[in-house]
Amino acid sequence: MDIRQQMINTKLEINEDYEEYLRVSRDNYSKDTGHYRALDKAIKETQELRKKITESKNNTDVMEKIYKEMPVLPIEKNTQGYGKVGFRNESQLKISSSLSKELKNYDKYISTTPTQKVLQLKAVRDAWNGLSDDDRNQISSLNISSVKKSNYSVGGVNAGSYNSGTGELEIYIHSSVGMNRTDHIYNTIQHELAHAKFDNIKKESPDKISKFTNTISSDEIRNYPLNDYVASFSNPEKNIDNAWKAKEKRMKKSMAFTKDEIKKAKKDFYANENVQNWSKEIYANETHSAITELIAGTKTVKDVNPRLKQYFKAYEELHQ
Ligand SMILES: [Zn+2]
Repeated sequence: MDIRQQMINTKLEINEDYEEYLRVSRDNYSKDTGHYRALDKAIKETQELRKKITESKNNTDVMEKIYKEMPVLPIEKNTQGYGKVGFRNESQLKISSSLSKELKNYDKYISTTPTQKVLQLKAVRDAWNGLSDDDRNQISSLNISSVKKSNYSVGGVNAGSYNSGTGELEIYIHSSVGMNRTDHIYNTIQHELAHAKFDNIKKESPDKISKFTNTISSDEIRNYPLNDYVASFSNPEKNIDNAWKAKEKRMKKSMAFTKDEIKKAKKDFYANENVQNWSKEIYANETHSAITELIAGTKTVKDVNPRLKQYFKAYEELHQ
């Protein structure tokens, strides 16, 4: 069984456990309550998601075409041992004792109905254990923490993030009803891990990153972005404007700066060489993550990108 098939099977298994959890929770309430309706809605969402996962299993023509174009990458070894919480190379894991206790309890008493946190943790563990030793070695630690629903957004940075300064990969878990994010976790880990790889290549061979960035930023390719998310980074000037707006908002909110200080900070920000470089490179960096999602099979798409071959070629050259 190939790795994509294996991932899809685990996703389906987790999805079914999740639905069972929702069903048990729902049936604690009487039918005319808001709780019952919310949980019932969540069950329907879960079933929808299962349909989608099953569809990707019986693969669509589009994904078949994409797999045909994909570079053949060597199978890397996955040999690091398991720790007490069931993660490979567990010395890299940072997790609160309450979360790890929840997961351990579920592992021990399989008959208990899992909580949503446990289901998400299971997905993180499965995705993590499925990586190669080399992939795991790209990061300094895997940090898992739970966040409030209001702080959690999918498609934004808050599902997970990679800290290029410390090399830490953060994955966020939340316990709100009606959002089944187990499916998303696999993709988040591949996306953030790709940022770590991009960072590490840059340290060793900055010329490779320049070449990749130039290729991806050429009009020939840039006019055909891989998805809407990467497209939002395709204009360097706009990247600086957006980054400045976010910084300005934080400065104003902190109340620690005068108007003149903010004005000066703006001037410095726009003149900063690191900011300039980042604004040009971030599009290639996000595109590299998007290519990785396709290669890892964690993301399915509806169309074959007209420049797909060039994307894969640039990826192969970067990783040679
Ligand atoms: Zn990203």
